[in-house]
Amino acid sequence: MSTPVITRFAPSPTGHLHLGHALAAIEAFDMAMERGGRFLLRMEDIDVGRAKPEFEEAIYEDLEWLGLSWESPVRRQSEHMDDYAGALATLDEMGLLYPCFCTRKEIMAEIEQSRTAPHLLNQGPDGPPYPGTCLNMDAHEVKNKESENAPYALRLNMKKAMAVVGEMSPLKWPALTWPALTWPTLTWIDKNKGEITAQPEIFGDVVLARKDVPTSYHLAVTLDDHLQGVTLVSRGKDLFAATHLHRLLQALLSLDTPVYAHHNMIKNEDGSRMSKREKSMTLKSLRESGHKPSDIKELVHKNELYTND
Ligand code: GLU
Repeated sequence: MSTPVITRFAPSPTGHLHLGHALAAIEAFDMAMERGGRFLLRMEDIDVGRAKPEFEEAIYEDLEWLGLSWESPVRRQSEHMDDYAGALATLDEMGLLYPCFCTRKEIMAEIEQSRTAPHLLNQGPDGPPYPGTCLNMDAHEVKNKESENAPYALRLNMKKAMAVVGEMSPLKWPALTWPALTWPTLTWIDKNKGEITAQPEIFGDVVLARKDVPTSYHLAVTLDDHLQGVTLVSRGKDLFAATHLHRLLQALLSLDTPVYAHHNMIKNEDGSRMSKREKSMTLKSLRESGHKPSDIKELVHKNELYTND
């Protein structure tokens, strides 16, 4: 017997859903229903300053209006901080995390000043890769900063993480040097593009626990998909690069790897990408201006979801 398909829609209740969200939600729902599977809804509300109960309520209202149904209870990330802390503790025991006290401004200044690392100015998926300022901070200095209660983020030591994954691999990889040409091969299956080789190193030493929130989008989403048994992650192409990193976290934390389907972003009539800030395109305003759920489904399906570009 084949395992059932489990998909999810994972909005952040920090604003009203727009047409792009409708596409993601309808796609995940349809993919589960077509295969007799299960559809889950998850509130990605770790951003405590921005997530609001009224937006969560509005999400339920919009999805019900679209005719979607989901399993209860809905997982709220803010209620599972212990899970993320556990994963961070595991990575810390593996020696893969370090505290970073830098402000965004300091990081940018450091990158701009650095003559030896001009490549760092090339944008990584979440901005320029971290220049490593706090990586080599000695234990004494770290203690001092901590005793001053200086806020810090936790970063993944990417070079070490890649080496650890290399060690875990049943094949022994050549010793890794930085920058290495011989990364261990981690792959995932993209439903439309086939096997993809993960390139998490494009993120550099990524933040896994923020200064203001003791987790991050990348850690929480990867752990939750595993804990909820999600087998097929459908999400927009804007998150394609994130999957490189999520695949690495799965390898480090021994988590399952779902299949991924990265759909095209919804386009305006003229082919330009629709902005999330486009107020007139929230489901609420579309509903209030007389649109029917069938109009939304038609608009969503008019977009070619999986053209390769
Ligand atoms: N919470 C993310 C968003 O609203 C989506 C995360 C995901 O699908 O992986 O953009």
